[in-house]
Amino acid sequence: MALSPVQVRTLTCEYQTNPLGLDVSQPRLSWQLASSARDVRQTAYQILVASDAQRLAAEAGDVWDSGRVETDQSTLQPYAGPALRSGQRCWWQVRVWDGAGQPTAWSEPAWWEMGLLDPADWQAEWIVPALVEDVSRSCPAPMLRAEFSVEPGVRSARAYVTSHGLYALELNGQRVGDSVLTPGWTSYHHRLQYQTYDVMSLLRPGANAIGALLGDGWFRGRLGWRDRRNVYGEKLALLAQLVITYADGRVLSVCTGDDWKAATGPILQSDLYNGEHYDARLEKPGWSTAGYDDRAWAGVRVAAHGKQHLVAPLGPPMRRIEEAPPLALLRTPAGETVLDFGQNLVGWVRLTVAGPAGATVTLRHAEVLDQAGNFYTANLRDAQQTDRYTLKGQGLEVFEPTFTFHGFRYVAVDGYPEPLSLDAFAAVVAHSDLKRTGHFECDQPLINQLQHNIVWGQKGNFLDVPTDCPQRDERLGWTGDAQVFLRTAAFNMDVAGFFTKWLRDLAADQTPAGRVPHVVPDVLGEGGSTGWADAAVIGPWTLYQVYGDRRLLAEQYASMAAWVGYMRSQAGDAWLWTNGVHFGDWLAVPPPDPNLPYAVTDKHLIATAFFAYSTQLMIKTARVLGKDADAAEYESWLAHIKEAFGREYVTPNGRVSSNTQTAYVLALQFDLLPPELREQAARRLADDVTAHGVHLMTGFIGAPFLPLVLAEHGDLDLAYALLEQETYPSWLYPVTRGATTIWERWDGIKPDGSFQAVGMNSFNHYAYGAIGEWLYRVVAGLELDPQMPGYQRSLIRPRPGGRLGRARAAFDSLYGLIEAGWSKTGAGLEIIATLPPNTEGVVSVPAASVEHVTEGGRPLSQVVGVRAVTQKEGVVEVSVGSGEYRFLTRPA
Ligand code: BGC
Repeated sequence: MALSPVQVRTLTCEYQTNPLGLDVSQPRLSWQLASSARDVRQTAYQILVASDAQRLAAEAGDVWDSGRVETDQSTLQPYAGPALRSGQRCWWQVRVWDGAGQPTAWSEPAWWEMGLLDPADWQAEWIVPALVEDVSRSCPAPMLRAEFSVEPGVRSARAYVTSHGLYALELNGQRVGDSVLTPGWTSYHHRLQYQTYDVMSLLRPGANAIGALLGDGWFRGRLGWRDRRNVYGEKLALLAQLVITYADGRVLSVCTGDDWKAATGPILQSDLYNGEHYDARLEKPGWSTAGYDDRAWAGVRVAAHGKQHLVAPLGPPMRRIEEAPPLALLRTPAGETVLDFGQNLVGWVRLTVAGPAGATVTLRHAEVLDQAGNFYTANLRDAQQTDRYTLKGQGLEVFEPTFTFHGFRYVAVDGYPEPLSLDAFAAVVAHSDLKRTGHFECDQPLINQLQHNIVWGQKGNFLDVPTDCPQRDERLGWTGDAQVFLRTAAFNMDVAGFFTKWLRDLAADQTPAGRVPHVVPDVLGEGGSTGWADAAVIGPWTLYQVYGDRRLLAEQYASMAAWVGYMRSQAGDAWLWTNGVHFGDWLAVPPPDPNLPYAVTDKHLIATAFFAYSTQLMIKTARVLGKDADAAEYESWLAHIKEAFGREYVTPNGRVSSNTQTAYVLALQFDLLPPELREQAARRLADDVTAHGVHLMTGFIGAPFLPLVLAEHGDLDLAYALLEQETYPSWLYPVTRGATTIWERWDGIKPDGSFQAVGMNSFNHYAYGAIGEWLYRVVAGLELDPQMPGYQRSLIRPRPGGRLGRARAAFDSLYGLIEAGWSKTGAGLEIIATLPPNTEGVVSVPAASVEHVTEGGRPLSQVVGVRAVTQKEGVVEVSVGSGEYRFLTRPA
C-alpha cells in the first residue's frame, strides 16, 4: 500500500520532548501531523515502544506495541504496556492512518526515561553539613564534596539530586546541567522535587569528584513579609545519588553519606529577597575536582528526612533564558551610577571586573526611577535585592549570583573601579523554561506593547511557581492572581506541566475541610478567600479546556470537590456565603468623584457568585469524568445558589445590589440572572462604563471578565473603547507611562507622576494582564470549542473593532499551529484561519450572505476543505477541515 504523504512529528511525552526522569506510571504520548494538504485527519495510530534505538529502527516494539488503534485521538495517549521500572529508557515511534486509510511512514524516534519510582531506590542518605551556623540570618553557603573512582567502560551515568534549600551540583569542576534555583519550590513537606541529569560526559576513568553548593532559597531564606525565615527548617541538606552503569551491566552508585565533607566558601550570603554576597578571595579552587585537599573540612551528619515525598518535576526547570545588555548609563541627580536595561525583567546581572583584591562592587536592583530621576527602592519594602562582589584581584573576574533573583530594570552600581563601561554588565533573564506558544499582534503599537508587557509579566513571575510579583518581600503563589491569569498564560506559553505541578501543591496544602490557602505553596497558613481559593476548580478546568487533559481533571477532582464542599459548608442552608475573610474585587478603582455612581462590590456577593461559578464547573467536570450522580447533586446545589443569589442581591427590576461594574460582570458572566433581567443588567453595566467616561472601575476579580461580558452582550464597541482607553484607569494607561510589564495597580505611577502607596506598588504583577485572553479570544478570534477541548475543534471568530485595522493571533496547540486574524483591505475584510492537521474549525465570517464570501478567490462551494456553510444573522459560518484559509468578505 502506498504511504500517506502526511508526516508524523513533534513527539512529546507528558508535554515534554524526550523527558529524563519521569515518575508518571503511564506516560501520555502526543504527536503532530504535518501536511500541506487540507482536511487531513488521523483515523488510526500505532505506537511502538522499544528498549533501545536499534530495536525501534527494526520496527520491533519489544516493550509495547499498541497495535492499530482506531481513533482520531493524537494527543495524550497513555502508554499501556508492562509496568515501567526505575531508570528505564523507552524509545518510541508512531505512525498513523490518514483519512484515506493510508498509513504514514514511522515518525522519527523519541524517548522518555523513568526516574526513581520507589523511595527504596534511593540508597543515598540525606546529609547535613556539620557547620556551626547562626540561622537567625543568611549564612555562608555550604559546600559538600566526595571523591570516587570510575573504571573504563561506562555505558550510562545519571545523577538524581535534591536538597533542603537550593543546590548547584558540580562534577569534576564542571556545573551539572543548565537548570537554576533547583530543586524549585513545592509544598516541601508533602512534595519535594528531585532532578535527573545525564552526567555521562562529565565522568572520566580513574579519580572523580562530586561537589554541591547549597543556598538558603525558599527553604530557610526569607519568605513572605514580616522578616520571616527558616519557614521549612533551619538546616540545609543534600540528597544525591549517582548511578553509573557499565557496559557489562555492573552498576556503581555514588551516594551522599557520612563520608562526605563540608566547608563554606565564597558565598557569604545567599537570599532570594536580599541577594548574594560573594567574596572571591574565599574561593576554594578545585574543590569539586579529584585530589583536592579537604583535610581541613568539616564532616556531615546523616539526617532522617525521608524519601516518601520525593517527586519528579512535571514541567521544565528554570534556566537562564536570555541576556540583555544595558541600554544606558545614567548619573542620577542624587549622584548614583545607574544602568538602565530598558525592560523590567527578572534574573540577575553578570558582572565583569578587574581591580585590586578586596575591592567590592555593589549592585542594587530597582524597577523604576522616581519623579526626580533617582533610584527608587521603597516599593521593594524589605527586600534588599543587593548583590556584592569582592574581588580576588586576579585579572578579569566574572561574577553571577547562584542562589538569588531580582526584579529590576535599573541597577545602581557602587564601587566599580573606573572607568565603567556598559560591556561589563549583562542582565541574565531567568524563569521556568516554558515553550512560547502564543503571539498576538495588531496595527496599534500601544496594544502590541500591552501584549509585550503581559508576556514579560509572565516571564518574570513564572519561576517554578506562579508568583504575584518578583521583586518585593513577597513573591508568593497567590491563588487569585494565578487563577485570573491562567487562561492568558496558557495562550502565551505551554503551562500544562507548570500548572499541573502547582495544582498538586494546592491540593497538598488544602486543609482537611477543603479550605484552599491564599498562597501555594502555603507559607501563610491562611486561606479560603473567594475568587482566590477557586483556583482549585478554575485551574484544572481551564487546563482541561486548553490541553484536553482529562487525567488532570480526574487527579484534581477530590481537591476541586473539597473546595466546593467547603463553600457549601460555609454557605449553610441559606446557600449564601456571608462569612470568612475575602479580598473582594482587590484593587478596584477607588471613588473618583462624588457625583458619579460608585459603590464597592460587596465581598459576600462575590463569594456567593464564585460559589455558583465553581459549582457550575464541578457539574461540567463530573460529566466529563462520567460521575453523573455527582453532577446531579451539584446541579441541585446550583439551583439553590442561584435562587439565593437572586433573592439576596437582585431587585425585581434587575438591579444587582452592589450596582458596580464587577457585580454586573459576575452576575452576567456566571449566569446568575433570570433571562428576562439579563438585558437590563447588561445596559446598567454599559451605562456605568459610559458614566465613568468609558473607564473600568474593576479590580482583580471584575477586570478579566469585563470586556468578555460587554462583547457578549452587544457592546463590542464599548469593550474596544475600554481597551483603547489611554487615560487612568485603563489597560493602556501604564503603557503610556512607559511600562514594560503589567503593574499591580492601575495607577502605580499616578497621572501627576507620583507613586502609589509604597506598601503595595509592584511594577511587575501579572493579574491585570488577564486582558490578554480577550486579545486572543475576541480581538483575533482564536477560540476553542468546549465540546472538543484541547483545540481539536477551534472556533475562529474574529471581532474587528475599535481603531484596529488588523489583528492576528497564533497559538501552538498540542495539535500544532492555529492562527486567527483579520485585516481590513480595500477589497473588504480578509480573515485568515489556520487549523492544524487532525483538527477542524468553524470560521465565523462577518458577511451579509454566503455570496459575499470567497476563499482563495473561489466561491465557498468550490473550496477544498469546506465541509458545511451556514448563514446566520450577519455571519457566515464555515465548517472546515485542517489547512490554511484566507477568506475575503465583500461589503454588502
Ligand atoms: C498580593 C496580591 C494578592 C493579594 C491578596 C497582595 O499582597 O501582591 O497580588 O492577590 O495580596 O489580596
